[in-house]
Amino acid sequence: MIDCKKKKYGISEELCEKIKERDKRCIYCDKEFKEYPYSDKATIEHMDTPSVKNPEEWRVGICCHSCNASRKGKNEDWDTWFESDFCKKRKINKDTVAQFVKDYRKRIQGEVKNDPVRNVRQE
Ligand SMILES: [Zn+2]
Repeated sequence: MIDCKKKKYGISEELCEKIKERDKRCIYCDKEFKEYPYSDKATIEHMDTPSVKNPEEWRVGICCHSCNASRKGKNEDWDTWFESDFCKKRKINKDTVAQFVKDYRKRIQGEVKNDPVRNVRQE
């Protein structure tokens, strides 16, 4: 499991503990995290490029190593990723992902009216 005391994830210990509490399984494939094999290991997932520089609770999650590796280079390109062989094989799509991912996508698409999280940031 993620050890929030190890500061190698680029996020604060506080944020790390918060998302650990929320994401108990992979946010994409719903896999249970394990130390072995490596592909089942929990990893910090930055949902998009801005979240790397500015990690916030609504755009940082925890996913398994295989999902994270598969998402590399497709950060904002969700449709391409959902259409990939990786997702098709594992039956991952916009409806099967964790609520956190659905909420994130709604926010990004501007579908959350008077969104307190994004509005605060944009002011
Ligand atoms: Zn996964």
